[in-house]
Amino acid sequence: MAAPVEQLRVVEFYSGVGGMHYALILSEIPSTVVAAVDINEVANKVYKHNFPDINLLQRNIQSVSLKDFIKWDADVFLMSPPCQPFTRVGLKGDKTDPRTSSFLYLLQTLPQLTKKPGYILVENVKGFESSDTRNELVDVLKKCHFSYKEFLLSPTDLGVPNQRLRYFLLAKHQPLMFKETTLTNEEKTLLNHQILSENVCCHSNLDKNNLQEVESTPGRTDTSDISDRSKSEADIQNTSESMSISNLESQRDIGSKTEDKISPKERNIKEYLEALSQESFEDYVVPDKTLLRFGRVMDIVREEDERTCCFTKAYGHYVEGTGSFLQRNNALTKQWAFEDRLDSNVTLLRLQQLGLRYFTPRGVANFHCFPKEFSFPSELSRKQQYRVLGNSLNAHVVSVLLRLESSQVDIFDSR
Ligand code: SAH
Repeated sequence: MAAPVEQLRVVEFYSGVGGMHYALILSEIPSTVVAAVDINEVANKVYKHNFPDINLLQRNIQSVSLKDFIKWDADVFLMSPPCQPFTRVGLKGDKTDPRTSSFLYLLQTLPQLTKKPGYILVENVKGFESSDTRNELVDVLKKCHFSYKEFLLSPTDLGVPNQRLRYFLLAKHQPLMFKETTLTNEEKTLLNHQILSENVCCHSNLDKNNLQEVESTPGRTDTSDISDRSKSEADIQNTSESMSISNLESQRDIGSKTEDKISPKERNIKEYLEALSQESFEDYVVPDKTLLRFGRVMDIVREEDERTCCFTKAYGHYVEGTGSFLQRNNALTKQWAFEDRLDSNVTLLRLQQLGLRYFTPRGVANFHCFPKEFSFPSELSRKQQYRVLGNSLNAHVVSVLLRLESSQVDIFDSR
């Protein structure tokens, strides 16, 4: 009889609706979530609804004690701390923003743990990489003998038609090392191109052969394979501490890197739509007053398109920059609706003919690559559904990172 597969013990901090948990399931890494912690009641309702048997703690992370950590005996920490302190809208308070306190608390706790987790994954918004909080994170990781890699990745990089550029950090506690054995060649190429920085823990008892293997990972410091890319991206590849990435997302979207993209099975928006009955369809039609006031700033996409913009927690509530709108009448264009010198009644009539509707919460969950089993408790309003989904993440992107993270199973097994 085959020996039972050892399950990694996972703690999901800032668990929200469980995006990390879905990524774990998608990654097929043998694992069990021993605890999930989140303070938000609404998000927790969704998590509980979908994962009724998981030990979900509705708590402030700052109330998690050393005793809890010892009890959990975790191999993996997954964390997506609040991102507002690292955004312009959130005023970039960084370490001084009270919403960062719980993450700083986790960073203070890590050195105190006798048994450190073998793996850590952190997710945050673009902007985090240039924060003091990120600097403190990597300082703590170095002090605790972790190797780490940092990435900026969007689902569009993996062929999913949704922009959601996010910062990711993968860390492994020595003697674990990065070795991309479980990734496809395309995934390896892609991830090597999206690395912002990496640091190999060079503690004295590391196996030199393994270290060599990590250091010779292609595409990391070798500039030859990125020579056709823009200077700013090349700079990013070769700079571990200072990063200037403001152009990165726009460079991606003008298609300069299509050769880096993985050919997906489902590239068109069409594949991600929720089928709607005529009756529920009416609920998602964009009202006339919204069309008239905000038509010009709407991001309008069609079924055959290969891109939607990032769905934020304000989707359905605000229009500009919160997510895309679906045009059902493919025969017409937005430009036609906004031709010069049209009377506003004519504009409205034309906009109506485009047949614009909101994406449904289930549609947004599809873009996040949540499985079809994911659902919301019936008491949640649509606004609440968009809100919690807007805080969540793309499970497919994280699952690829988790496979990279866990790929050195041989060393792990011999611990
Ligand atoms: N990855 C999650 C969402 C992370 S958003 C998902 O897939 O849904 C950040 C989450 O951190 C929010 O759900 C918020 O409620 C939670 N949070 C923020 N501060 C917290 C704290 N001090 N203690 C526990 N949870 C916190």
